[in-house]
Amino acid sequence: MSDTLKDPRSKYESIEPPEQTQSEPGLDRDLKPLADLGTNSYTGSGRLAGRRALITGGDSGIGAAVAIAFAREGADVAISYLPDEQPDADHVVQEIERAGVKSLQLPGDLQELEQCEAIVKQTVEAFGGLDILVNNASRQVWHENIEDIEDEQFDTTMKSNIYSSFRVTKAAVPHLEPGSSIIFTSSIQAYQPSETLLDYAMTKAAMNNLSKGLAQALAPRGIRVNAVAPGPIWTPLQPSHGQPTEKLTQFGQGGPLGRAGQPAELAGAYVFLASEEASYVAGETLGVTGGSPTP
Ligand code: NAD
Ligand code: MG
Repeated sequence: MSDTLKDPRSKYESIEPPEQTQSEPGLDRDLKPLADLGTNSYTGSGRLAGRRALITGGDSGIGAAVAIAFAREGADVAISYLPDEQPDADHVVQEIERAGVKSLQLPGDLQELEQCEAIVKQTVEAFGGLDILVNNASRQVWHENIEDIEDEQFDTTMKSNIYSSFRVTKAAVPHLEPGSSIIFTSSIQAYQPSETLLDYAMTKAAMNNLSKGLAQALAPRGIRVNAVAPGPIWTPLQPSHGQPTEKLTQFGQGGPLGRAGQPAELAGAYVFLASEEASYVAGETLGVTGGSPTP
């Protein structure tokens, strides 16, 4: 095989993580094995030079890989996260600053309306504006049966996933000029809901739906709205009650590529949707699923 070709089945080893549990929200630094955030591989080429980005859940997993890639593409990057995630957030900010752009840390709980509004305000103040918003924060906690999902759990999932995305977006839109881009992190769960993730999966369908409605509402204002639908990606979401622990050892092996994805494999999709190269792409959901179909 040519040296320049990489087989997507074996580009990353098919991980078989040992059984492990972290308390929610979990930390990247405690994952076994560690996930690849693209730190040693992503090379930027100025595709987002001078842009100003806000990424919710930018401390770890997919959001962290996107934050590192955006910074290497020349964007200033603000990340929001829960206070318990400070160690992960410090690592990501080091990487952002190493790229020679501005960073901003925004700890706080996005279940609160005030926090949703504050992160937008602080980003605009620190960077002098905002032109890329990535609604990526979410929680995923599995339950055997619908009766096991206590009302408080249900409420926390709705607030963390849908309320936060809607509220942050609403606060951001008045600041977005033509050419700006909003990206939602949906999921293959929006199309193929797992029986143990009922509340989570419905939030991912809602985010997908919101991105398509909003794309039509904001296109006449020159703002593009899109979504990315990841498949099984190795992140702290999974061992912090995102899956039954015994399922983790085969995580992602059932899909066509036969392995879990790494956060680094998502970054290119977000860079594309944020960049000028996607100027005619709006209302789209880009699947990064390892081959499982998204309709
Ligand atoms: P992750 O745990 O690294 O990221 C999720 C982040 O959400 C956390 O880091 C946390 O900062 C943030 N968050 C959750 N609740 C919050 C709250 N109340 N306030 C503020 N922040 C909060 O895991 P990830 O897998 O990278 O998740 C990123 C996105 O990808 C999520 O939207 C998730 O639904 C989506 N996704 C993940 C997978 C997967 O297999 N990992 C698959 C499809 C979609
Ligand atoms: Mg995190």
